Amino acid sequence: MKTARFYCADCDTVTKCEARTPSHILHLLLSIITAGLWVIVWVLLILKPLAWRCASCGSSRIRKYHELTQAIKDVPKKANPIGALIGLAIGIGLGFWYILTR
Ligand SMILES: [Zn+2]
Repeated sequence: MKTARFYCADCDTVTKCEARTPSHILHLLLSIITAGLWVIVWVLLILKPLAWRCASCGSSRIRKYHELTQAIKDVPKKANPIGALIGLAIGIGLGFWYILTR
């Protein structure tokens, strides 16, 4: 069993989550009994992505941190008011410079 802290959509909080991992001792024994044939199943189970579940409510609606940060990146950026003010000041300055140098 592996544990990590992820966001649970049902609890609406970052909480402890668990995922079952293969029992390597059991798979080693099965591999010995089947003269190595079970190694194929063992490798497939190791390569399979872990099915994470919330430890509090058992929900599988889990979002990992990198998915959350990606969701934050997808939100459109707001206009920078300081940039707009600097642009406005430069525009007014250039306007005065044009009028005064004529
Ligand atoms: Zn939960």
